[in-house]
Amino acid sequence: MIVVMRSGAPEIEISRITQELSTWGLHAERIVGKHKVVIGLVGDTAHYDPLQIQEFSPWIEQVLRVEKPFKRVSREYRHGEASDVAVPTPNGVVHFSEHHPVVLVAGPCSVENEAMIVETAKRVKAAGAHFLRGGAYKPRTSPYAFQGHGESALELLAAARQATGLGIITEVMDTADLDKVAAVADVVQVGARNMQNFSLLKRVGLQSKPVLLKRGMSATIEDWLMAAEYILAGGNPNVILCERGIRTFDRQYARNTLDLAAIPVLRSLTHLPIMVDPSHGTGRAEYVPAMATAAIAAGADSLMIEVHPNPAKAMSDGPQSLTPEQFDDLAQTMAVVGKAVGRWPQVTTAVA
Ligand code: PEP
Ligand code: MN
Repeated sequence: MIVVMRSGAPEIEISRITQELSTWGLHAERIVGKHKVVIGLVGDTAHYDPLQIQEFSPWIEQVLRVEKPFKRVSREYRHGEASDVAVPTPNGVVHFSEHHPVVLVAGPCSVENEAMIVETAKRVKAAGAHFLRGGAYKPRTSPYAFQGHGESALELLAAARQATGLGIITEVMDTADLDKVAAVADVVQVGARNMQNFSLLKRVGLQSKPVLLKRGMSATIEDWLMAAEYILAGGNPNVILCERGIRTFDRQYARNTLDLAAIPVLRSLTHLPIMVDPSHGTGRAEYVPAMATAAIAAGADSLMIEVHPNPAKAMSDGPQSLTPEQFDDLAQTMAVVGKAVGRWPQVTTAVA
C-alpha cells in the first residue's frame, strides 16, 4: 500500500503518520519525490482498509493498494516517479535514470592484465563511456575455462579507475567475495546466472554500493523484478536492471534473444533504471551496433558493451567484443539516435 501525501504536507504530519503505521506492524518507508512525499507500506496490509488510513490526516491525498507481487520496485510504489541511481565516480556523479542522458558502460569481458585494462579504459573513456566494466570473477559454463584473475584483477580495475576517473562495474559471484568487490566497484554486478541466488541478493541488499542486476537467462520479467525486490527489501534502493538476452529455441545464429520489448514493459512496471547489454544479447560483434542503437531508440537508460583491444585473443567473449575503433564508430551512431530521442549529453561548445 502507499500513502500519497498532499504537496506541502508538514514534516511533523508525515512523521506522525509514519510512526503510527509502524506501530501497526507495517514497515513504513518514506519516499521523497519531486513534488510529493509518499509513504510506502510493506507487510500484511490485506487487513487494513485504505479508508481507515485516509482518515488519519487531511494531509493524506490518497491511499492506494499495490496490487503487484513486487512492491518496492513497482512503479506505483513511488507513485509513478522514476528512480535516479546516482553513482559518484572520480569524474563526477553519473545518473542512471530515465530523466538523464544514456550512460555508457564499456570494457572487456574479463580483466586480463594491467596494460589491456588501462588501455581499454582510456579508449572507451575517449569515446564517451562513463564506466569501465571488466570481470575479475567469471561465471563460466566449463570449470576448465578461464575463471578470471580474482583479487589481483580487482587491483587492476582500481588502477584503471585511477588512470581514467571512470567508475567501475564488476561482478560478484559469491557472498564471500562481496566486501572485496564492493571496495573497488562503484556498481556491483550480479550476473545472469546468479539472478536468483537469494543469499547473494540478500547480501548485496545489505551493503550500500549500487547493484546492477542482470536478467537470468530464463527469467520472466516477474522473476527478475522479484529478484530486485530482495535487494530493495534488504535496504538498498539503488538497483539497475540489465536486459542481456534470454534463451529461446534458436541459438544457431545469435547467442541469446535480446528482449528489447522488456524496455517499455519494465518502464510501465517499475521505477528502476534500465540497461541493455547487446554484447551478451547477441553474442556477435557484428550485431551489437544494430541492437545498441535500437535499445537507445526504445528508451534504455544505459548500455553495456564489451570492448577488447584484440578480440581475437580475448580470454572470454572475444566473438562479441568490439575493437576500440568499432566502439568509436558505434559511439558516433549512438549519439545520433540518442540526440534524436533527447537522451544524449549536451556537448557544450565555447561561444566565440
Ligand atoms: C558479463 O557481463 O560478462 C556476464 C558474464 O554477463 P551475464 O551474466 O549477462 O552472462
Ligand atoms: Mn562477457
